[in-house]
Amino acid sequence: MPGQFNDRVALVTGAASGIGRASALAFARESAKVIVSDIESARGEETVSLIKEKGGQAQFIPADVSKASDVKALVDKTIGVYGRLDFAHNNAGIEGAKADIADSPEESWDRIIDINLKGVWLCMKYEIPEMLKNKAGAIVNTASAAGLVGWSKFAPYSASKHGVIGLTKTAAIEYMKSGIRVNAVCPGLIDNEMVQRAIIGEPSAGNAVKKVFQDVRKSIGRSLLSQKQPSGRMGLSEEVAEAVLWLCSSASSYVNGHALVVDGGMLAK
Ligand code: NAD
Repeated sequence: MPGQFNDRVALVTGAASGIGRASALAFARESAKVIVSDIESARGEETVSLIKEKGGQAQFIPADVSKASDVKALVDKTIGVYGRLDFAHNNAGIEGAKADIADSPEESWDRIIDINLKGVWLCMKYEIPEMLKNKAGAIVNTASAAGLVGWSKFAPYSASKHGVIGLTKTAAIEYMKSGIRVNAVCPGLIDNEMVQRAIIGEPSAGNAVKKVFQDVRKSIGRSLLSQKQPSGRMGLSEEVAEAVLWLCSSASSYVNGHALVVDGGMLAK
């Protein structure tokens, strides 16, 4: 992809950690100007510092993707700062608490759908008009392997991610004649904080507890892997980020409305 992200502008939500941070760093590595967005300001600014340390350009703009006013302001400020929008990675998401459907509180359903599904819709609603001004753009929405198959005890999450794939395909159809491509990535088990929380829950504060947490995580991770992941390892956030960049690059110019699985072969089993 040499040169093609030069001076282009990429917006990444959920960029304070994990996949979003890796994607923001990858866009910056390819010389894009990056808007880093998240609800976590301190960690979002940390992503910006990591980009700047490597000579890249980035700015943090806080936004809660479930709120229309925040998302509108995010896109307006992006245009204010860098003057255009070329790429968007709509990635912010939460997994929610582990529970069977009958035990799951309604508030949990509402919150997960608001962030994971409505958040992606809101982002596209405000990003697309800016891309239409250039008659060009590429959007990648983060879905999940759980957007293609069920995930026991995470029904709202799985439903939201199935929804993200439907939104992605519909947006691709609506804007395919306007120069905008819209695709999704479907990560499998990626070794970052979300998977750590989903597998054994939040670690308590304190380094001693965190060390125990890490040891337990390793052994649970190994047994989970042997059941679920034939490749024998979890993926890295950076491996998902490379797929996002490819979907934004001209190398994927004929790929549109696609849900790209990045799971090391887990769903092939
Ligand atoms: P993560 O928890 O490290 O990152 C999620 C980010 O989203 C965090 O920085 C968080 O602050 C931010 N966020 C949460 N609610 C937000 C809101 N309302 N507005 C703006 N930002 C918000 O986990 P991750 O794995 O990097 O997750 C990124 C995406 O990848 C998510 O959509 C997740 O569902 C998806 N995903 C992750 C995995 C995995 O194995 N980790 C697998 C499949 C899909």
